[in-house]
Amino acid sequence: HTFEDLSLREEILKGILAQNFKKPSKIQERALPLMLADPPTNMIAQSQSGTGKTAAFVTTLLSRIDFTKEVPQALVLAPSRELARQIQSVVTGLGQFCAGLKVEAAVPGAIARDAPVTGNVVVGTPGTVMDLVRRRALNTSEVRLLIIDEADNMLDQQGLGEQSMRVRNLLPRQIQILLFSATFPDKVMKFAEKFAPSANQIKL
Ligand code: AMP
Repeated sequence: HTFEDLSLREEILKGILAQNFKKPSKIQERALPLMLADPPTNMIAQSQSGTGKTAAFVTTLLSRIDFTKEVPQALVLAPSRELARQIQSVVTGLGQFCAGLKVEAAVPGAIARDAPVTGNVVVGTPGTVMDLVRRRALNTSEVRLLIIDEADNMLDQQGLGEQSMRVRNLLPRQIQILLFSATFPDKVMKFAEKFAPSANQIKL
């Protein structure tokens, strides 16, 4: 299988080729057709870092956005600001040919207190995102995709699981939710099934 088989938009395919990715990794081969299918369905995926999971969900995210609109349409939650920044740079790299793409990092200190979030992609930590939503600085009305990365690490940190769930519950009802985690102890599986109901589940 090749990236060309996935019927991706031309500018996204160009972004992938610019990374020198020759062919989809195992998780990309299995997860991308499921994540890109219409109507969109939720997914719960077990995958370690190093498998290409970030590029998998970023490709999906780029495919779901209308770049002519600056309003937030995809939201990624990560357990640390470092990871949020890493994800942001993967979005920027894979999306380098997507004219109109604007990625905003919603991490502590990154956004001026009174400035509204204008990017069409927002990558952040749950507390900062929750704060922005509560202050109506982040318009959630057009969000159609929510991704949570490293759900197991999220639940290991006080309050981040609850904050993520609160963010989720403030988004429109009919959105696609993708959850990634390296491990799925009972606690994480319970959270995952509540966070991303009726999901396709894949394990790698
Ligand atoms: P991740 O699992 O997201 O931490 O990604 C691990 C590494 O794999 C990153 O450095 C990516 O740039 C790289 N990568 C992702 N997808 C591919 C691919 N299809 N071919 C080669 N390298 C890739």
